[in-house]
Amino acid sequence: MRLRRSLIDLNDLSGDELDYIFDRTRVFQTRAPGPLLDGTAVVNLFFEQSTRTFTSFNLAQMRLGAHVVNLSPNDLSLATKGETVEDTVVTLAAMGISVLVVRHPEPGFPARVATCFDGHVVNAGDGAHAHPTQALLDIFTLREEFGDIDGLTIAIVGDILHSRVAHSTIAGLRSCGANVVLVGPEFFLPGNYAQHGVTIERNLDDVLTKVDAVVLLRIQRERFIAMPMSDEEYIAQYQLNGKRLKRVPERTIVMHPGPYNRGMELDDSVLTFAGWRYAMQVHHGVYIRMAVLDFLVNGVSVVC
Ligand code: ASP
Repeated sequence: MRLRRSLIDLNDLSGDELDYIFDRTRVFQTRAPGPLLDGTAVVNLFFEQSTRTFTSFNLAQMRLGAHVVNLSPNDLSLATKGETVEDTVVTLAAMGISVLVVRHPEPGFPARVATCFDGHVVNAGDGAHAHPTQALLDIFTLREEFGDIDGLTIAIVGDILHSRVAHSTIAGLRSCGANVVLVGPEFFLPGNYAQHGVTIERNLDDVLTKVDAVVLLRIQRERFIAMPMSDEEYIAQYQLNGKRLKRVPERTIVMHPGPYNRGMELDDSVLTFAGWRYAMQVHHGVYIRMAVLDFLVNGVSVVC
C-alpha cells in the first residue's frame, strides 16, 4: 500500500489530473510561480546515469524553492554497507524529507520505495518499465503542437521492448485517443504489443506517409546482450534520414526522448528538419516536472 500521493506511472493520474498538470505547466512557462515548495525537502536518488532527467528535476525543484539533496549510489549505505532500501527511506523520512525522486535499473523499485516512505515518490525511470514524466512532457509537446491528440497518428520507432519511455508514452497516447503505430523489428517489437489503439508495422517507409508525429527511440544496448541484426541492417530499415523525411506529410513533427545516437536511429538531416522538436521536449520537461511536484505536494490549487 502506498502511503502518500506518488507518481509511479501515468495510470496514477486521472484524466482530470492530467489536464490540471498540463494547465499548470502552461502557466508555469509564462510566469514564475514563486516558492510553491518553500521549505520542502527533496532527495534525488539516482542509481542510473542521467543528464536530462536529473538536471530537469533539479531545476524544477529549485525554481519552486525546495531544499534539494542529490544522492547517487556511491553516497548510499544501501549500495555498499548492506542497508535495505526500506531502512534507507525510513532514515530519509526521519530527516524530514518529503519527496523522493527515484531512478533505478530495477523495474518496480520506485513502487517498492513508495510502500515504505512516508512522503511522495516520483519515478524518474525504472528499468524498462516506466518513465512517467518523460511521457507527460512528450504528450504536452504534442498538445502544444496540435491542440488535440485525439485521432492523431503517432509512430514510435525502434527499440520499443527495452524502452520505459515507450511503455509510458504508449499508455498515455492511447488514453488521449491517438492512433499509435509501433515500428521495429521483431526482437525490439514482439507481436503481443498489438492491442486496441496500437498497431504494429515492420516497414517504416510505408508508415511515414501517414504520420502526424514520429517518436524515435535509442537502441537500449545496456538492456540486452547481443544486437539481433547488424547496425547496417538496422540503419537501412529503420533510420530516419533525409531521404525518408521527404515521405512525411508537411506538418509532421519528429521527437526523441534523448540521448539520440547520430548515425543510428537518425542522421544529421533530422537535426535540422523544421519539425524536429527535441529541444522543445527538453524545455517542456522542466515545467512538467514543476507541475508534477507541485501537484503531488500541494494538491489541486484553485489559483493558477
Ligand atoms: N532518457 C530516456 C530514459 O531514461 C531514454 C533513453 O535513455 O534512451 O529512458
